[in-house]
Amino acid sequence: MASRERALDSNVPGDFFVDSSCIDCDTCRWLAPTTFDRAGEHSRVHRQPDDDAERFAAELALVACPTGSIGVRERHDLEAASAAFPLVVEDEVHHLGFHDEASFGAASYLIVRSASGGGNVMVDVPRWNDGLARRIVELGGARRLFLTHVDDVGASARWAKFLGAERVMHERDAVAGVERELEGVEPIELEPELVVVPTPGHTAGSACLLWRSKFLFSGDHVAFSRSRGHVYAFRDACWFDWRVQLESMKRLARFDFEWILPGHGTRCRFTRDEMKEQMRRCIEWM
Ligand code: SF4
Repeated sequence: MASRERALDSNVPGDFFVDSSCIDCDTCRWLAPTTFDRAGEHSRVHRQPDDDAERFAAELALVACPTGSIGVRERHDLEAASAAFPLVVEDEVHHLGFHDEASFGAASYLIVRSASGGGNVMVDVPRWNDGLARRIVELGGARRLFLTHVDDVGASARWAKFLGAERVMHERDAVAGVERELEGVEPIELEPELVVVPTPGHTAGSACLLWRSKFLFSGDHVAFSRSRGHVYAFRDACWFDWRVQLESMKRLARFDFEWILPGHGTRCRFTRDEMKEQMRRCIEWM
């Protein structure tokens, strides 16, 4: 819970504030960019919301914040913001919110599919929340839980047990108890239109999940840079091998997709042709 006593001086005066417990995970800045931006090593409120849409976006950020670092000075009923997660991104893809400090605030997602279509797939995991768990069950639960890499395992054991889901992960990052371990660097079709693309680099066992040649769940392999204005990779957060990551990026660039939905960093959507150009630019930049 955010503390007024620890509110950062960099916040503009008013209702919302960020306190010094912020871990700089970026979530609030992409969920509610009109309210939050970055100042030094933290987020801050750069402008108070001035309409209902901005206020609700800031409330979503408050609920999603992994460390409870966002506070309000006025009374807010946060029920609607909490109940908004899983939040539709597009089509059957949902953002789960409730980011977990254990994964440094990584985003997680749910692909909602019919039981006959293979059932739902969770991609990485949120922190545990009873209401969210209930709403995921109402959406059909999850049969598979795909983990992009070892940093974002978080509460996956609890979620897998609760949902009765099979955890899928690359063997080079796999943690104890994962039910299915994948090998190699060649694409692996889990089901028609659900393809794992191993992308070692950020970690040895990083992998992306591609759904319907449209949605790429990229973990920490690739994201959009708001400041650079193009798709990029985290050079300063490459824990394994940057050259290996570059080769992974070249293999990934052969695939078609429109969305990049990362664990960290900003999501983006382009046409397939534009995304090809974005990937080309990313590779050139790397
Ligand atoms: S979501 Fe929370 S921890 Fe993450 S940058 Fe914003 S205030 Fe900081």
